[in-house]
Amino acid sequence: MRDTECPYCGADVEINHDDGYGYDESDMHQQECECGKTFAYFTAIHFTYRTYKADCLNGGEHDYRKTATYPPEFARLRCKMCGDERPLTANVEFSGTPAASSPEAPLERRVMRI
Ligand SMILES: [Zn+2]
Ligand SMILES: [Zn+2]
Repeated sequence: MRDTECPYCGADVEINHDDGYGYDESDMHQQECECGKTFAYFTAIHFTYRTYKADCLNGGEHDYRKTATYPPEFARLRCKMCGDERPLTANVEFSGTPAASSPEAPLERRVMRI
């Protein structure tokens, strides 16, 4: 899905939000189209909400699941109902932990990329 269309040629245009550009609703922004014309645009941000039952906010138990954070040692526990987070504790049993990867491997790869 494209964001908008060029006022000159009508082409579908994807707004470039690199470095967070163009999100400010009070300013006018500009972008160049493939047709060579530069157009101005205002940003209107629409909020949509989805609601979920959260029994843990109504006297029930939180349902903590391990987050899929990478690297895995930075994973936390997040309640799947209310989104509450807490650090992993040693006595928590992980389900489906990637035992194959050694803890050193991610660090090494990150250094290589720099
Ligand atoms: Zn155009
Ligand atoms: Zn909860």
